[in-house]
Amino acid sequence: MDSSTRFVLVNADIRGNIVRLQDSIATMTGLHDYPGEIQELLGQFVTAALLLSDTIKFEGRLTLQANGHGSIQLLMAEVTHEGDVRGIARLDEAAPASDFADKNLNQLLSGGTLTVTVEARGRERYQSIVPLSGESLAECLESYFQQSEQLNTFIRLATNSTQATGMLIQQLPAQLEQDPAQRTNRWETIQVLASTVTGPELMQDATATLLHHLFADEDIQIFGDTPVRFQCSCSEQRMAGALISLGEEDLASLFEENTSLELNCEFCGTLYNIDNQTLTQLVTAGIKPH
Ligand SMILES: [Zn+2]
Repeated sequence: MDSSTRFVLVNADIRGNIVRLQDSIATMTGLHDYPGEIQELLGQFVTAALLLSDTIKFEGRLTLQANGHGSIQLLMAEVTHEGDVRGIARLDEAAPASDFADKNLNQLLSGGTLTVTVEARGRERYQSIVPLSGESLAECLESYFQQSEQLNTFIRLATNSTQATGMLIQQLPAQLEQDPAQRTNRWETIQVLASTVTGPELMQDATATLLHHLFADEDIQIFGDTPVRFQCSCSEQRMAGALISLGEEDLASLFEENTSLELNCEFCGTLYNIDNQTLTQLVTAGIKPH
């Protein structure tokens, strides 16, 4: 079962989360013919989005999105607070498969941008830019937390052709340990221990085994697994919204040539057939372009 599992180091101001994905990644990548490296990178994005979403209290949707100018044009993972996930990669069609081998994230995106967007109930949508300052997605996100939130954070992501797993460990604001030097020491110790974890250990070891092995001297409380599943949030309305964002002129010319438009959801493959009349109805029902 795909899951997200929280834990705390009881005697330190440190929390963490482990995400394990298999079925949801299989569903997501099964609909597309991605090169192996992209499958794994997409797995990392979805895992990271879940880890990020667990660091904030919210009801809604978090999107981790990379827009690139290189062989990757778009890489996107969307997760909800309820554990629904979906994601896609859009690649440069002319790029040969060899283009994706042995490249770090920065090279694959070639001067692109990485953003986190949170759409939460009762709050304004907000977006932050994650500087592409590290070689890997995990490194970029660690420095993002350090800079934007001033929170010491450790992130490790591990993937293979069928699994994506990630661990996040984060220092909480001072509660138990008030002395700054002791806090720093404590964090450094935990970080050094955490960084000894290998990819295979992260993917194969049961959560309790893994954590007790890594932090043998710590009292660790592990909470129950939260299930995660692939669930597409597409609908006729959202599809119509995407159509409307094309603009009136382009839409009019599309409907001149076709009585109805066939649209495939990129995330789940569902086919939508939208004619001009339906579109008008959906518009009058109050949808807005997004
Ligand atoms: Zn869909």
